[in-house]
Amino acid sequence: MTGKSENPIRVVVTGACGRMGREVVRAVAAQDDMELAAAVDASDLGADAGAIAGIAPLGVLVEPDLKAALARSKPGVLVDFTTPRAVMANLRAALEARVACVVGTTGLTEDDLRQVEALCAQTGTPALVAPNFAVGAVLMMEFAARAARYFPAAEIVELHHDKKLDAPSGTARRTAELMAAAPGSQLELTGGQEGPRGLAVGPVRVHSVRLPGLVAHQEVIFGGLGQTLRIRHDSISRESFMPGVLLAVRTIRARTGLTVGLESIL
Ligand code: NAP
Repeated sequence: MTGKSENPIRVVVTGACGRMGREVVRAVAAQDDMELAAAVDASDLGADAGAIAGIAPLGVLVEPDLKAALARSKPGVLVDFTTPRAVMANLRAALEARVACVVGTTGLTEDDLRQVEALCAQTGTPALVAPNFAVGAVLMMEFAARAARYFPAAEIVELHHDKKLDAPSGTARRTAELMAAAPGSQLELTGGQEGPRGLAVGPVRVHSVRLPGLVAHQEVIFGGLGQTLRIRHDSISRESFMPGVLLAVRTIRARTGLTVGLESIL
């Protein structure tokens, strides 16, 4: 770090003490054009967010109340990596305070997204929701959508660490949706309905593996006449998500309304 710019983007991180939140705190602190304005979490209250993230203290103490943090610290952007249960209240508080939102939390439903879209419109404040901030994962989704027009069937195996709360993963859901919606896609469910055959997301079955030692991995397997095609992405460290998160922080305020997916800003 070579000293902050005169007008850094002030970032509040919700879920600042979680696995992703700590990575975001480290990444924000390392940027010349950003500074951590506030750190909100349900754990480690009163601790220095930098120390929690394993870097030098930042003078920003972890606090529980997002509304109070927004009112005091006046951030430009909120980055949320919390839980499916917490994210909507955080988004509502930030958008009502006219703070642009970058959301990595997964498990938002279609109805949630409609609510976020309405809140963005009401408040004139932008938000970006991306189930995967890793560029390689976005490419995997793109390639899978492209392959969907050439194969009659495909299934997804997604593999994550055992603390992940939602299943199937947001990435797997979005991949399946993109594959189903791809122009010319003729995918159909295959195999019997009996036994554990994964969750059908449209025409694509998704199988969820949860094991210690994993980070975030996904394989899309296509089957056709006498051939298979596998498209695989592995996030082997949470650093893989940071270039996407930082790009979103830098660009979100120039957008309007709700944006879904990192691909929209690449
Ligand atoms: P985690 O380690 O459990 O972190 C979540 C943190 O949020 C915890 O410290 C939790 O505190 C805190 N929290 C709970 N309620 C809160 C609230 N109302 N306000 C503020 N903080 C609150 O989970 P993670 O592994 O970092 O993952 C977080 C989310 O990001 C998950 O939905 C995951 O699927 C998603 N994710 C997205 C991407 C992407 O690229 N988009 C990549 C990886 C993960 P307690 O532990 O005390 O509850």
